[in-house]
Amino acid sequence: MPDRMLQFVRLGQQNPDKRSAMVRRSDFGEIYAEFAPPQAAAQASRCSQCGVPFCQVHCPLSNNIPDWLKLTAEGRLEEAYEVSSATNNFPEICGRICPQDRLCEGNCVIEKSFDSVTIGAVERFITDTAFEQGWVKPIKPVRELPQSVGIVGAGPGGLAAAEELRRRGYQVHVYDRHDRVGGLLIYGIPNFKLEKEIVLRRHALMVESGIVFHLNTEIGRDLSFADLRARHAAVLVATGVYKAREIGGPGAGLAGIVPALDYLVAANRTGLGDAVLEFSNGTLDARGKHVVVVGGGDTAMDCVRTAVRQGAASVKCLYRRDKANMPGSLREVKNAEEEGVEFVWLAAPEAFIGGTTGPDGVERVRSIRAARMHLGLPDASGRQSVEPIEGGHFTVPADLVIKALGFDPEDIPAAFEAPDLTVTRWGTLKTGSTTFMTSLPGVFAAGDIVRGASLVVWAIRDGRDAAQQIHGYLKQTTAVAVAAE
Ligand SMILES: Cc1cc2nc3c(=O)[nH]c(=O)nc-3n(C[C@H](O)[C@H](O)[C@H](O)COP(=O)(O)OP(=O)(O)OC[C@H]3O[C@@H](n4cnc5c(N)ncnc54)[C@H](O)[C@@H]3O)c2cc1C
Repeated sequence: MPDRMLQFVRLGQQNPDKRSAMVRRSDFGEIYAEFAPPQAAAQASRCSQCGVPFCQVHCPLSNNIPDWLKLTAEGRLEEAYEVSSATNNFPEICGRICPQDRLCEGNCVIEKSFDSVTIGAVERFITDTAFEQGWVKPIKPVRELPQSVGIVGAGPGGLAAAEELRRRGYQVHVYDRHDRVGGLLIYGIPNFKLEKEIVLRRHALMVESGIVFHLNTEIGRDLSFADLRARHAAVLVATGVYKAREIGGPGAGLAGIVPALDYLVAANRTGLGDAVLEFSNGTLDARGKHVVVVGGGDTAMDCVRTAVRQGAASVKCLYRRDKANMPGSLREVKNAEEEGVEFVWLAAPEAFIGGTTGPDGVERVRSIRAARMHLGLPDASGRQSVEPIEGGHFTVPADLVIKALGFDPEDIPAAFEAPDLTVTRWGTLKTGSTTFMTSLPGVFAAGDIVRGASLVVWAIRDGRDAAQQIHGYLKQTTAVAVAAE
């Protein structure tokens, strides 16, 4: 066991073993192995224990990273778990899917000359060990409070808030339109980044903690928002953003052009053992097809890598900017390239060309006519504009086109029949910047539905902060809660 920190001067960065691209192309298992304990201790000991830890400063949860790295280096794993879980409800999830290269690891001070500490892999190791050792326990509130809180949405934002409120003793009810909890953790993010058992394990723990889940319950359809408000002393809306941005142009309505989330949900459900008609009838299965994914974010990366694993004949990613300007994590681009995905940078679809007609008589896409683009002058936001190069056209074969251009919020005031629920000009719910309360008293909001499409770690942070605000609100407004304090 290393006896001191700052070992970066003599010990190089080592990530957990990554399965070879050839092997991982053929299954949906996670691609990284777990650290062995000595390896985790050694890698943790590379931390330079900065006085002002930029890793912590740039972590949305302000995780106390230097402390849990030191405890790991000393083999004091139960304490490392205590410190890590004090600020993060789901460290094993963040350890797997946070874009560490842009957050903690990207800001590690040794990163410039020595390669950063492998913070994400150590975080995952600590929490997976804690689960194996039985250190992760259901929440047992010190006292039960009579008030109940209704949470709409069982994604990371809603679940983090649920845990924090339950810890304080509230009766917590989580409503979700899906049949499983996790939001995008279960049906959006593929298994090769986050194995679904990890999410289901958390769900089981929350049930044991006394959090009540109402699944297959869509607010606004199966239960009205007004009835929900009448049931609970406070409500948190954490419904995420799901309206897919559309592609225009001639032929955009041909069969075989599908939204990214439909495709990923079908793949994830199939992996979980559900019978998915659109997968079994081939509509949302890439097997044997020439697949083109349009977009350059994390969703696009998840689609291309899923298509590879489904046995596509070829997989291309068309993105209108270049590699340096893509929004997705470069780590995921590298993984996709290793797995055989071809990136076509500076290219945008102009038209979708049909050809064959399926047994249903509907014309299907056969290829895409694309324009070559170049980056122009920066706009007001500082981002370079993209313009087509005159005469720069080309055609790519495509019999499955996946649209991954991002998401906008659904019309929540309309869906909830709550016209007084104020939204921003982007359609996200408007909340007080520190109160998390919407324009309706006792109705709070958190996660992507407030921020717009973002990250899991931000949803967790918002869920925690919103829980704190709901607690303050209930203490103020309810004499019973004040007495129970
Ligand atoms: C394909 C994909 C890959 C991603 N990969 C990453 C990644 O690698 N790392 C990362 O940090 N982030 C990633 N993200 C972003 C991340 O998943 C989201 O930022 C995060 O899940 C937002 O959490 P949330 O709780 O706000 O919403 P969500 O996770 O979207 O959960 C919202 C929940 O609300 C439910 N709901 C919606 N409306 C209703 C209603 N009316 N009634 C009842 N229930 C309702 C939904 O069913 C859903 O379960 C990815 C996103 C996508 C789409």
